[in-house]
Amino acid sequence: MKEKLKVLTENDIEKLEKEDSLTENDVQELLRVTQVDSEISEVIAEITQDEERRRKWDEYYMKIACLAALRSKDPSTPVGACIADTKTHQIVGIGYNSMPYVKGRNNDKIFSWKGSKAEGIPYHEKKYNYVVHAAVSAVLNKTRESIEGCTIYLTHFPDKDCVHAIIKAGIREVVYCMYTRHEEREEKEDMIVGKEILERTAVKYRRMENIGGELKNRIEQEIKPQYKKNKNKWPTEPVQGYITWEKFFMKIAELSKERSNHNPQYKVGACVVSPKKQVLAVGYNAYPEDMIHDETEDEEKDNKESNYISHAEYKAILGISPSVEGCTLYVTKYPCHMCAQVIVQSGIREVIYDKPGEWDKDSYISSRKTLAACLGDDKIIDIRSYEKKLDSKISKECQTQSIVKDQATFRTCTYIIAIIFFKFLFIIFVCVTIKSICKF
Ligand SMILES: [Zn+2]
Ligand SMILES: [Zn+2]
Repeated sequence: MKEKLKVLTENDIEKLEKEDSLTENDVQELLRVTQVDSEISEVIAEITQDEERRRKWDEYYMKIACLAALRSKDPSTPVGACIADTKTHQIVGIGYNSMPYVKGRNNDKIFSWKGSKAEGIPYHEKKYNYVVHAAVSAVLNKTRESIEGCTIYLTHFPDKDCVHAIIKAGIREVVYCMYTRHEEREEKEDMIVGKEILERTAVKYRRMENIGGELKNRIEQEIKPQYKKNKNKWPTEPVQGYITWEKFFMKIAELSKERSNHNPQYKVGACVVSPKKQVLAVGYNAYPEDMIHDETEDEEKDNKESNYISHAEYKAILGISPSVEGCTLYVTKYPCHMCAQVIVQSGIREVIYDKPGEWDKDSYISSRKTLAACLGDDKIIDIRSYEKKLDSKISKECQTQSIVKDQATFRTCTYIIAIIFFKFLFIIFVCVTIKSICKF
């Protein structure tokens, strides 16, 4: 482009010179301006590219925060948070609003999402006394000692409690969406105070709009009209449709896959998860960052070019400093033989995959053998088997519920019949008594 511009300009100058309309000085000035112009346009192109890259990373982290929000059982304002080191592109903390964790017990049974009229607190506000907020939870779940200088992505503007945690952790930027089922949430006092604190500190904040598509819609599910009319009847039961851990981590692997610069049909994403359910690392298969690669689709070329690709699980495992001993690997496609070696050697104890491998290929025959011998067959799991288990659990619950419902209906009918029968007996008794009194 620069060369073209130069040739064109030089030709034009020559033409103008022939016509004696330009002096030597004019020509020099024109050449200097052209040179500066092309340099400026190069800089502008670079800035635009950088911005585009930053926007894509922003979207990626915000989608992870949206996924986290879908883990929340909060019936009215599920919130998700994702803390990222935007320089190294590492996820260093994920959280969502939830009841305090109680080891070995169901925290929903200990801390109710309901309120109590007797305490003078509206039903939908009682939970605020117990709920651990998304940003606080993400800071507590950090995967490295210091998260100073990092950015937090939130699906909801932080209130004062979250802002305190953000500042204390040394986070420098808050990127937020405003996904909520409460229409007037933004004007609540705890949010206003949160904003005031941010404005008086060095922490920057900026809002993003319309990120997450389907994920956003699920967070903002329409509140039923009867709840809108009466806030005291706001839904208070914990959400039952929250996404499972398996789906959550596989979705993170899928989102990471989209960061790949490989051809769409070959993209793979991976996610390493600690026994404490922390995302320790993510990876996607890609050409080395600045490597120029051929994007035309051709099978022969693809085979050759595939040698230049670094694999998703390989990058996820090797790219992190903490040990992955005892961790679970979520990967969108069954690992190849090279990745299988790294997996077993690193101490990963379980692999959950989505797409199967090409079982007739040497690479997958070897990887199956390696993984089965070192981890055991039962530790290489197709994600669909979890879905089947979940489906059968749900259908069992539905059956139990319908049995319970049938029993309840039967009990109600029995009570009604008994009441009618006793009433009837009572009337007969009254009639007989009146009759006998009349006889006297
Ligand atoms: Zn908060
Ligand atoms: Zn591989």
